[in-house]
Amino acid sequence: MNLSKHLQNNIFKLVGSVADKMGVETYVVGGYVRDILLERPSKDIDFVCVGSGVELAQAVHDELGGNLPFTVFKSFGTAMIKNGDLELEFVGARKESYQRDSRKPIVEDGTLEDDQNRRDFTINAMAISLNKDSFGELMDPFNGQADLASRTIRTPLAPEITFSDDPLRMMRAVRFATQLNFDIEPDTFEAITKMAERIEIVSMERVTDELNKIILAKKPSYGFKLLFYAQLLDKIFPEMVALQGVQTIEDKSHKDNFYHTLQVLDNISENTDDLWLRWAAILHDIAKPATKRFNKKVGWTFHGHEDKGARMVPNIFRRMKLPLGTEMKKVQKLVRLHLRPIPLVRDEITDAAIRRLLFEAGEHTDDLMMLCRADITSKNQNKVKRFLQNFDTVEQRMKEVEEKDKIRNFQPVITGEVVMNTFKVAPGRLVGEIKEALKEAVLEGKIQNEYDQAYDLMLELGRERGLEVVKS
Ligand code: ATP
Ligand code: MG
Repeated sequence: MNLSKHLQNNIFKLVGSVADKMGVETYVVGGYVRDILLERPSKDIDFVCVGSGVELAQAVHDELGGNLPFTVFKSFGTAMIKNGDLELEFVGARKESYQRDSRKPIVEDGTLEDDQNRRDFTINAMAISLNKDSFGELMDPFNGQADLASRTIRTPLAPEITFSDDPLRMMRAVRFATQLNFDIEPDTFEAITKMAERIEIVSMERVTDELNKIILAKKPSYGFKLLFYAQLLDKIFPEMVALQGVQTIEDKSHKDNFYHTLQVLDNISENTDDLWLRWAAILHDIAKPATKRFNKKVGWTFHGHEDKGARMVPNIFRRMKLPLGTEMKKVQKLVRLHLRPIPLVRDEITDAAIRRLLFEAGEHTDDLMMLCRADITSKNQNKVKRFLQNFDTVEQRMKEVEEKDKIRNFQPVITGEVVMNTFKVAPGRLVGEIKEALKEAVLEGKIQNEYDQAYDLMLELGRERGLEVVKS
């Protein structure tokens, strides 16, 4: 097969000619080749040469004018040139093996064949030659093309060998299966189930990177099911496995919260690529196992699972090495509030109730409503339709109240400063109380969030507390 027509891009000609001058065999390799054959867009290009990847990268960088961002990763023997959105990675072909139970690879220079042997999957082990006399030739020793055609993830060597060399590859198998909608070849899958616990020697950052890629796929539930059946999920995310299962007492069963959660995740993924909203879907019911009770009259209950779930979020994020700033806060807020819009569908609901939720959800109000919609997983389509329409009504009311009262970005018009200056009091409990009562009055609709009304109420609140206006 001649792929030179896919290599019109001048960068391949340029790297090839630099490599020819240096007399080193050079190939484009891995994901980029796979994506050409799948006609899938790809933004990083990996080059492998039989020699020093860093020296080749240096020469290519000079040839490109010497001004592009250029990074050498000394300890890995790799180098990267950033060319606009494109990342060009260079590495020397290597033979690599890991010592059992150790994270440290022993790396030696190798041939192209050695390098292909240490790649993760047949579909990621193909290389295209860039040297002049063989430009565009595909080197495909494990018949990755056949696996692409049959949509199969398979290791190039015996799976036990590939996976013991780097157990992260088990996660990667699931990740590629999910991103590409491929099957994992049965022997490869069986090896994962047998070796799943070896994932524990891999750093959490690497595991989470792969997990996030699974979560960002078009249909993430597929990846979670594979992780679950392969028994990887209980090693990396036991809280989620605890959601699985149905218990029945006196003929009353609750739903399987694992499959429900996956449905919610797929639903929300049809509407957003925001990783943190997808995480909110994953975690929205995470405390159901911990709060589950059986009550003779009403059956199964999960009281308080939204608050307990929100409290579990920081620990899960910390352990998974996910960011602990605004992203975590947003997930936490969505988990905590995910039941709140439901009672608002009733007709007799007051504007005050709507204002309270707008105030608490703030800038995440739309995200919250998206999560609530995704959380409807009934099999009865009429029910689904009715629930969705109810949320339409809630959103309509939220819009009206928001237009009127501007609660989502609520800023009190009377600050603590004003309170302190008016009554000449020091910061403390009284000031806090007055501010809180002013906020309550706005949310309850007793006053508008407007200076004169708020100022008058402040005076009244102060007098009730024995404070006097001090003229300055
Ligand atoms: P994408 O960039 O879309 O995530 P990719 O296949 O390019 O997919 P990368 O993680 O960028 O994945 O890796 C590039 C190539 O390096 C892979 O195609 C594979 O050949 C090889 N590779 C990466 N990580 C590993 C690993 N842990 N074990 C073996 N080979 C790997
Ligand atoms: Mg890549």
